[in-house]
Amino acid sequence: MAEPVHDHDALEAGDFSVWLGQIQMAIRGEGESDVPCGDCTACCTASQFIHIGPDETDTLAHIPAPLLFPAPLLPRGHVLMGYDEHGRCPMLVDDRCSIYDHRPQTCRAYDCRVFVAAGVQADADKVLIVERARRWRFSFPTLLDHDLFQAVHAAAVHIRSRADESGAAGRPANNTQLAVAAIEQHERFLPQR
Ligand code: SF4
Repeated sequence: MAEPVHDHDALEAGDFSVWLGQIQMAIRGEGESDVPCGDCTACCTASQFIHIGPDETDTLAHIPAPLLFPAPLLPRGHVLMGYDEHGRCPMLVDDRCSIYDHRPQTCRAYDCRVFVAAGVQADADKVLIVERARRWRFSFPTLLDHDLFQAVHAAAVHIRSRADESGAAGRPANNTQLAVAAIEQHERFLPQR
């Protein structure tokens, strides 16, 4: 069972509506997440495959080719970067991203606050991400902040229940994809006022 979060562990996640606008842009590839990571490297050490698109030429120029392999089910040119036997990205050196200014769009868009936003826990094997995500606390200064938060949660519940009905074919591949899908689809669940 998850440990309770004490106030001194809590991290300010910002106003929900502002954050939601930023993460939507990042997901569309039109911006970057602005996550106050501090010294946290949880997402760089969580045994994650990093997708890099063929148009990310600057990123590709900064990663040794032997670390990349074709991305399954995606068109030619899309690649993945794996991780070492400890689950660490090979670009993480001395606990810092060694290609930070050239990092993949996947890394620029990643934001572990999506799990809190969608009411979804990170996948169980991503222990450090689970720990980090449970510390975020959004602010809700307006009714809109509340409505948007409820809408993202409702979208996540809907996607999960629809996946349960349709079986494996309709199920997001992991909880990150579930949370991202909830953010993408939340507008359908906003209350009509
Ligand atoms: S490329 Fe950099 S930011 Fe992305 S996972 Fe690797 S170390 Fe982390």
